[in-house]
Amino acid sequence: MAFIDARTLPADSRIEADLIIIGGGMAGITIARQFAGGTVKVAILEGGGRDLNDAAQDLYDGAGATVHAPDNADRPLDDYPRNSRARVLGGSGMVWGGKCRPLDAADFAKRDWIPHSGWPMSRQDLQPFYDRACDLLEIPRFDGTDAKDPDRPMLEIGADFIAAPVVFTKYSGGVDEAAFERFRTAFADVPNIAVYLHANVTRIGLSKAGDRVEQVDIACLDGPRHTARAGRYILAAGGIENARLLLASNDVRPEGVGNRHDLVGRFFQGHVTYSVDETAQVEGSALYLTAGKPMGRYLNPDRRGAHSVIASALPGQQRLAAGNFTVTLYPSAPPGPKVGARGEETVAVGQLAQRLDGAPAVLAGCFLMAEHFPNPDSRITLAPERDALGMPRVKLDWTYSAADLDGLERTAAHFGDTLGAAAKGRFCWPAEREELIALSSASRHHMGTTRMHADPRQGVVDPDGRVHGLDNLHIAGSSVFPTSGIANPTLTLLALAVRMSDHLKPQLGAAR
Ligand SMILES: Cc1cc2nc3c(=O)[nH]c(=O)nc-3n(C[C@H](O)[C@H](O)[C@H](O)COP(=O)(O)OP(=O)(O)OC[C@H]3O[C@@H](n4cnc5c(N)ncnc54)[C@H](O)[C@@H]3O)c2cc1C
Repeated sequence: MAFIDARTLPADSRIEADLIIIGGGMAGITIARQFAGGTVKVAILEGGGRDLNDAAQDLYDGAGATVHAPDNADRPLDDYPRNSRARVLGGSGMVWGGKCRPLDAADFAKRDWIPHSGWPMSRQDLQPFYDRACDLLEIPRFDGTDAKDPDRPMLEIGADFIAAPVVFTKYSGGVDEAAFERFRTAFADVPNIAVYLHANVTRIGLSKAGDRVEQVDIACLDGPRHTARAGRYILAAGGIENARLLLASNDVRPEGVGNRHDLVGRFFQGHVTYSVDETAQVEGSALYLTAGKPMGRYLNPDRRGAHSVIASALPGQQRLAAGNFTVTLYPSAPPGPKVGARGEETVAVGQLAQRLDGAPAVLAGCFLMAEHFPNPDSRITLAPERDALGMPRVKLDWTYSAADLDGLERTAAHFGDTLGAAAKGRFCWPAEREELIALSSASRHHMGTTRMHADPRQGVVDPDGRVHGLDNLHIAGSSVFPTSGIANPTLTLLALAVRMSDHLKPQLGAAR
């Protein structure tokens, strides 16, 4: 069947399938691939076309701010809803960095010091699906063997920090255009898959009783409107848009779809990185390590090769009442004559080096990435403004509690102390909170807005990804993450997508 331009269909066409997937990004495509060549008739409804274009991207415009409670100034992020994702076949896969890492075992744990933490599955449960997601992206599996590589020993700095491997896939429009073109199109070259392009879903239509999805409404920009029906639906429109579509579909249930307990859009979590701006001559983060040769494990000249980051292990997180945290090294020293050393007066880099033991040393720039605690006040809501299709735009309040920043500061200080105590190096970073916030930059990881929990009062979807209270609607993507953990989210959302496909196949009468 392959690709159909929804603008060319007669107005009011009815698309029919066994399974409808709303959104042809990394998640939607991964699910469709699991069904390709089988007997289940799958339709992907994709709002974008084959190429990025402004009119489609305009539909993503919205408003936003990061809110640092209680004493720090808000930072406007009005361009974030538009610029942190791509409305096109392949979704943000067209522009992503391809950086892959599974979540740590600690990320799945219920951590008493982090309210709302705990996944309904463990890293071990997800491991077979991580393996299949790695195969799909043609990257090595994360099966623990890297940690045993004798040629690339770990930095031994105690039990509170671990080395976590990172690899990059070629399957990104920004890395290998031809490879990604195959990834986002070749799967559809079979009779049971149809991909409708320029098919923007504008409403998820519930039955009168509100317990099933009956149909979805489709609108083409400057074009016709259609409807689509299937036995089952998967919403895979991305971490912001999943919530927007559920909230905006409020004709049968005024609170929106799947929102009986006022959870849709809440618990938005993103990762923030903290590092010196490489172009500015300012003080910032740096690591001075005496470890010498073993640092090859961490340092990569092009920042794209397989390497490791330093992550926070569970015992340290617990003791410091903090979330997960990573330090990513890059082999260039931060520019500028000085670095700020926490707990010391600011000293010149050369002097700082001399304070070390005289062992061969590496001066590395670094950035920190911090887990964002799940927070019901961190949320996506509908704005009064509407887009060209009449859909309400989004407003994002990306909210931090004092616990987020306290935990980050304690962990960073502990990291510096641990390095110093092990005589492995010095860690320099801004001691003032305002300065730290000023050095922060937002990732494009959108998590938590349709969180997963077995209890409908605590989650929008159940552990299989099905929306609580609805028979036939599932949600795929990082919006279902209960906590953000520390890894870039895409490998995990792909693992969950593979797992969901296995779960749905028997229900759709397909062989596993
Ligand atoms: C610049 C950048 C760099 C990144 N780098 C990394 C990285 O290195 N590692 C990592 O893990 N992650 C990274 N990410 C995040 C990563 O791209 C996302 O996690 C991933 O692409 C999400 O996939 P998805 O399919 O869930 O959502 P999306 O990619 O957002 O796909 C959703 C799809 O749904 C379509 N859609 C939306 N609304 C509708 C609608 N109403 N009707 C029909 N279709 C609709 C969209 O057009 C899109 O195709 C990066 C993101 C960006 C923007």
